[in-house]
Amino acid sequence: MKKDAHQRWRDEVDILITTGLSEKDARTRLKGTSKIPNKPDVYKAFQHLRGDAAQGIDGIAPWHAEIPTYVFQSAFQDADRAWKNWLDSYTGKRAGRRVGYPRFKKKFRSRDSFRLHHDAKKPKPALRLEGYRRLRLGGALKTVRLHGSAKPLHRLVSSGRAVVQSVTVSRGGTRWYASVLCKVETDVPDPTHRQKANGRIGLDWGLNHLAALSTPLDGHHLVDNPRHLRHASKRLTKAQRALSRTQKGSARRRRAAARVGKLHHLVAEQRATFLHTLTKRLTTTFACVAIEDLNVAGMTRSARGTVQLPGKNVSSKAGLNRSILDAAPAELRRQLEYKTSWYGSHIAILDRWFPSSKTCSGCGWRNPSLPLSEREFVCAECGLRLDRDLNAARNIAAHAEVPASGTGAPGRGESVNARGGCVSPRLLRESGQHPSKREDAAPSGPAPPRRSNPPTFP
Ligand SMILES: [Zn+2]
Repeated sequence: MKKDAHQRWRDEVDILITTGLSEKDARTRLKGTSKIPNKPDVYKAFQHLRGDAAQGIDGIAPWHAEIPTYVFQSAFQDADRAWKNWLDSYTGKRAGRRVGYPRFKKKFRSRDSFRLHHDAKKPKPALRLEGYRRLRLGGALKTVRLHGSAKPLHRLVSSGRAVVQSVTVSRGGTRWYASVLCKVETDVPDPTHRQKANGRIGLDWGLNHLAALSTPLDGHHLVDNPRHLRHASKRLTKAQRALSRTQKGSARRRRAAARVGKLHHLVAEQRATFLHTLTKRLTTTFACVAIEDLNVAGMTRSARGTVQLPGKNVSSKAGLNRSILDAAPAELRRQLEYKTSWYGSHIAILDRWFPSSKTCSGCGWRNPSLPLSEREFVCAECGLRLDRDLNAARNIAAHAEVPASGTGAPGRGESVNARGGCVSPRLLRESGQHPSKREDAAPSGPAPPRRSNPPTFP
């Protein structure tokens, strides 16, 4: 409905243009004449068209009664948001990466998921835990048994400290996950004695080691990079080869695809577990965690280039990108941001232009040139000799600043908005510059062709 309305409006603009009006005048002439339908409009139309199996009325979804109505409503809401994100991104209101024209979800391609929410007016919530082990979803889904115990959630909800807002059910590999969104009232805790005593830690993210720490954790300054994807690559290759040898549409293909999906899911789970363990340790042990502001999207930009201007060293850059994303630097930061607020600590961010590797952490002397091959930092002023990454970690600890807004309302993830850069998105797009912090001397090919494809101008 949204796309149709948009297309109709666009056609009208085009007709006006053929009469000799300029694009801008045509738009002004048509201002306010067409409306893109939003959730209530779509839902109303859906009620007319859906049909009903019980009454023998045919329609686009006669089976709708088997599913809670909230499934449809959440989907319409998501469509509204997708539309707004695209439009805001198009008009420059939204910072960050360009958001493409809304697309439909696709079977086998999109993540399988649906969301349920409450009717706030009903006194008894439809979505609720039944004991520690069962979750009531309502409708034909009734209750589902949980694999793990939901004891902490049950305690929060039954004591009235948390109110269930919605439940999102999604598939990962061969498992189904229920993610329960709650509104929780909580006090931001004060830092513990241990956190105060340990003070600030600087973390330098890298690939040789996942992190270099300015203060040792368990007696180690360096955190190994687990490289989960690389460790699974042999098994993945095998599974993928088996998949490619099956016939399309066959039962064996379905099973082979499930095996590939399962392996990828396993890797994702391993990565998540590792990061959660690390970030929880850091945020509960230290009063402040200092990290560098990394431009992950910029760092991992494809070197492929365009047909006219092909990039160089494409496969090696692709491999590097894979390694970077396997180490999930953005997820590390995201977890640190919300966990610091949970545990009474703070996050401090170092400006991405600060030369953390080239500066002496002892006296502040700057080495004008420091090749990446040199693993040790040697200061010409004070004679300090230190592991390169450890030196960077100490600089990060010393020079990072707590974001101003982050101190007021810690932990809502509002402190640092990933969509708000220091440069206007439009300026950035036009100049073709991308603030990126990277040390690796990787080929920086031209930006890849945009995949977003608005069929017409909005
Ligand atoms: Zn020095």
